[in-house]
Amino acid sequence: MREAMARAVVGDEQSDSDPTTRALCERVAALLGQEDGVFMPSGTMCNLVAILVQTRAGDEIIVDDQSHIYNTEAAGSAAIGGVSVAALRTPAGIYTPEQFEAAIRTPARTAPRSALVSVEQTTSFSGGSVWDLADMRRIRDIAHARGLKAHIDGARLLNAVVATGIPAAEYAKGFDSVWLDLSKGLGCPVGAVLCGTKDFVVEAWRWKYRLGGAMRQSGVIAAAGLYALDHHIEQLAADNANLRLIHEAVRDLPGLAFDPTAGQSNILVFSVEGLGVTAAAFAERCLAEDVRVRAIGAFQIRVTTHLDVDRPGAERAAEVIRAVAQGFAERR
Ligand SMILES: *Cc1c(COP(=O)(O)O)cnc(C)c1O
Repeated sequence: MREAMARAVVGDEQSDSDPTTRALCERVAALLGQEDGVFMPSGTMCNLVAILVQTRAGDEIIVDDQSHIYNTEAAGSAAIGGVSVAALRTPAGIYTPEQFEAAIRTPARTAPRSALVSVEQTTSFSGGSVWDLADMRRIRDIAHARGLKAHIDGARLLNAVVATGIPAAEYAKGFDSVWLDLSKGLGCPVGAVLCGTKDFVVEAWRWKYRLGGAMRQSGVIAAAGLYALDHHIEQLAADNANLRLIHEAVRDLPGLAFDPTAGQSNILVFSVEGLGVTAAAFAERCLAEDVRVRAIGAFQIRVTTHLDVDRPGAERAAEVIRAVAQGFAERR
């Protein structure tokens, strides 16, 4: 990847004349079955720009209550777009089409206007669950019938693709905006590509520029994205398999609690509350054994597999999590 970056042919991205960035945008747009794409510094900016283009101040967007948009984007849509967020309570980041439809506001002079719905495929903080294609399509169709735009936060869309065998373009079909993160499982240092119609991308460019996201010789980093699409997609399947291995090794341990949907892709979330310890204490014990897991709540642990964790690494992570859980269980 570093060599591909060093060899990249570059130009000026702001004037759309960086050939490597253009190639990356076209490649991702084709992968997602969209007309065009725009390179962004981050997935967070993709979500924000998609919201800014497709809403106006005083509108409301509908997301799940564990979504990245709602929890970890510093309320960008509210702070910059003046948009309020209806966050649907979900078991594993996945709401039903009925739940979504019930959340759409009846037009009234007193109500915010429901303008956009977002589906996070796969879910992040709720454990890598994979949305069902039929549900995504029903949500998309309900949105369009009721005058809303439909957005996919596809930070890890390709993890869903390798888990189900359903092509990315099938998931993205008919959605108004969709993006992929290059810096998650694909292993790039930076970047994401936001896609939609040509008209959408024209407007997305205006916001990208306004937010300071326009670049110069971005081909240096876009080349990493092209390299990852050539060489790292198979790795995502290995990440999912490594996660499954960890899940199977720890799922029956007393004191740990898992969602029924756990283990579908490369993220595993579980509760350690039954061990009588905090997630922070649990994570600290794992780290002392060189296994880094993340405390994402008082009692919730998140485990993520990625291209720096090989099969033996996953086996070792499973052993350490097991031993730490058993150690805490014995102390009770
Ligand atoms: C990581 C992530 C983002 C944000 O992407 P960055 O590139 O870190 O800004 C958005 N949504 C989901 C679901 C993510 O996992």
